[in-house]
Amino acid sequence: MNMTALQLDSVSISFGPLHAVADLSIQLRPGEVYALLGPNGAGKTTTLNMILGFLRPERGSIAVAGVDALTDPLGARARIGYLPETVMLHPTLSAIENLTYFALLAGRKIDVTTARRLLDEAGLQSSAHERHSGSFSKGMRQKVGVAIALAKQANLLLLDEPTSGLDASAANDLSNVIRTASSRGIAVLMATHDLFRVKDVAHRLGILRSGQLVEERDAATLDPVALEQLYLQRLAS
Ligand code: ATP
Repeated sequence: MNMTALQLDSVSISFGPLHAVADLSIQLRPGEVYALLGPNGAGKTTTLNMILGFLRPERGSIAVAGVDALTDPLGARARIGYLPETVMLHPTLSAIENLTYFALLAGRKIDVTTARRLLDEAGLQSSAHERHSGSFSKGMRQKVGVAIALAKQANLLLLDEPTSGLDASAANDLSNVIRTASSRGIAVLMATHDLFRVKDVAHRLGILRSGQLVEERDAATLDPVALEQLYLQRLAS
């Protein structure tokens, strides 16, 4: 069995003269939660887009659960659950219907009982299971997104700025959902500015500056103040 959920080796991409991501190497084990920190324009979204196969790196290699994302982007994407800043659901379908539909697109046929169980695991209150998702908050849409990843039996969950626009309670729910995914063996890569949340859920963190990984640490070695200091130092130096 392959023990690496995500392997980026010396990945680089430029847009004209701009080195958006330069020589980036990151490795995630199953169940590991990794926070990719960095200011606007550091290259976080570009990194996620390369893992998803939406952008092709000029150099380097990317593998998701052992599947080469450059030669088999669809195969790699089948192993990924992706939560963009705004999770898009069909507004006229219920949570159960959205989950069933997106699971089917990913090749998994699930019944209503399974759909309810997965939505429960992802933390969506049962009173919302049959409601049209058009009225859902960002946090609720994220929970459906995580349920979809669980249904797909994804190896990797990618989150782009997951806490922006969430209130404290929804952000706390998100931490719990990330822990659930992690406990199922799903590796989580989250691109974020939110240092507090990072300290709360991440096992490891990397600081990206101008496309380069300038720091990588075990989150447990840093208290929130030390993390903030390190972050500011690394962006300044
Ligand atoms: P943010 O937090 O603002 O989303 P980010 O860390 O996700 O920032 P990216 O969106 O990955 O940063 O952008 C990295 C750099 O690459 C930026 O300078 C951005 O302007 C540039 N860039 C991203 N996509 C393109 C593109 N398609 N064409 C040209 N430049 C791009």
